[in-house]
Amino acid sequence: MTNPSIQKTLALAGLAAILAQPSFCAAGDVRSAQPADLVLFHGTILTVDGKDSTAEALAVRGGKIVAIGTTQEILRLAGSKTRRIDLNGRTATPGLIDSHAHIADGGVGELYDVQLGDATTVAEAVSRVRAAVAHLKPGQWLEGDGWDEGKLAERRYLLASDIDAISPNNPVWLEHTTGHYGVANWVALRLAKISASTPNPQAGTIDRDASGQPTGVLKETAADLVRDLIPPPTPEQRRAGILKSIDSLHREGMTAVKDPSIEQPTWDAYAQLLKEGKLKERICVLWYAGTTMDSARKALRETQAYPRPPQSLGDGRLLSCGVKIFMDGSAGARTAWVYKDWHRNSVDVDTGNTGYPAVDPELYRQQVRLFHEAGVHVGTHAVGDRAIDWVVDTYAQVLKDKPTKGLRHSIIHGNIPTDHAIDTMALLQRQYDAGYPELQAPFMWWIGDTYGGTFGPERAQRLMPLKTYLDKGIIWGGGSDYSVTPLPARYGLWSSIERETLKGVYGSHPFGTAQAVDIHAALRSYTIWNARQLFLDDRTGSLEVGKDADIAVWTQNPYNMPSRELRNLHCEATILGGEVVFDESNGHHVPGQ
Ligand SMILES: [Zn+2]
Repeated sequence: MTNPSIQKTLALAGLAAILAQPSFCAAGDVRSAQPADLVLFHGTILTVDGKDSTAEALAVRGGKIVAIGTTQEILRLAGSKTRRIDLNGRTATPGLIDSHAHIADGGVGELYDVQLGDATTVAEAVSRVRAAVAHLKPGQWLEGDGWDEGKLAERRYLLASDIDAISPNNPVWLEHTTGHYGVANWVALRLAKISASTPNPQAGTIDRDASGQPTGVLKETAADLVRDLIPPPTPEQRRAGILKSIDSLHREGMTAVKDPSIEQPTWDAYAQLLKEGKLKERICVLWYAGTTMDSARKALRETQAYPRPPQSLGDGRLLSCGVKIFMDGSAGARTAWVYKDWHRNSVDVDTGNTGYPAVDPELYRQQVRLFHEAGVHVGTHAVGDRAIDWVVDTYAQVLKDKPTKGLRHSIIHGNIPTDHAIDTMALLQRQYDAGYPELQAPFMWWIGDTYGGTFGPERAQRLMPLKTYLDKGIIWGGGSDYSVTPLPARYGLWSSIERETLKGVYGSHPFGTAQAVDIHAALRSYTIWNARQLFLDDRTGSLEVGKDADIAVWTQNPYNMPSRELRNLHCEATILGGEVVFDESNGHHVPGQ
């Protein structure tokens, strides 16, 4: 209920403000409507709109931004029941978005697996595994995540021989941080029937020592021989994993995520949380398309069982965005598909190894054609230069045969594009609203000490050419690929600018600084450009009248703080669709309710 005379006063005030302040920007109905539900004022609002404009204050009603302007203007829209957030000089930005984060699987891993991401020696990793094995019954699986030879003092893989003695009765699988390889102990290798006489599976590598014995390290499809034996998470564990990740996202000012490569149980977990009103994050998923036409048709049915984006479930909370295909592997594992041999330790050449495609290239092309003709968005994982060329040429071909605007087909990771690939991206973006790199600048930091070794000095300079993209008018989506790198988007803002490795094994800047961009471009890549890749650009990604109120509040202004400190950017509050989902000043996280 609203007192009509108050309403009238507000109407007049609003009108006066509009007349007095031509820059005041308000929705048409503000003058005659109820007071705002929420106002933020006395701050710096980085709107990330088309002009990158800033303001002091904004008002929210019904979950939408209804006005942006000066503190004085906005406070006129507040009534007795309006929640007032005095920014007191702090900065608000659009809620940050990640276009590639495995938040469902990653959350499960964080809750239930042994964490090895910060292990600095083989011995430390082994002792954590030993401690965890002590709690298991014989025969029970032990899973670990996140190790990286680039972070281990020994600069070598973890091997079966490191963990055999401490786990004689339990199968162990320790996944590398990239998710493209890992190490199994002998118990697990025996269960998977892997021995010296086992041939490499198609698109997979069983790592072997000089005598031909498996070392325990399994790459790409070879890792599936072991992974497929591990019991999948229960529905309860999936649900807990997602909620854990959403909590982490809120603490980092992040309000939307593209979760790539999911299957039905993950979708069901998201849908169930949505039904319960607990999905306090915008999630756009890609269904895993597999490596055959049958698996592609299955993914097509799965994605088409739900509304076509930008339509969503739960008013912009859950979107069945499209499908994901893997064109190749990883630059960490030296399995990504490249033109020139991979390197070891930066200088040594891994002679004869140019990686391999993860799927038959011609079959990949048929898969893309199937999806494209059905009007379905495709994201393809492509790391190596040769894989990226194949992907952009495929997109160009299917778009030429069936010109369609707005499917926004993407090149996931797109680590080392050739000049041809870059020019093709520019063309596809202009002509078809497709061909977008969805990349993860924090690779240069978190796995940069492995990447510095495998790419080699020359190729490393081509890694994530953001400056070239800007110069050519190419836009990209930023991301973490969590749990490949840590989830907070602030690391990506920082990495886009600093391009610095974690440990400096091959120097702190093996990828050069010529391709660095500034914070304005970096922030766009984690807001409005990502919103586009999640098919949410009409409702989020910038702070503009009419959009959903997805807002992050920061202690510092990212536009004028030293860029080297961006990695420590501190979030104080997060608002999703007008609801405060994290408020540090309350001393606690607003519960998921
Ligand atoms: Zn990924």
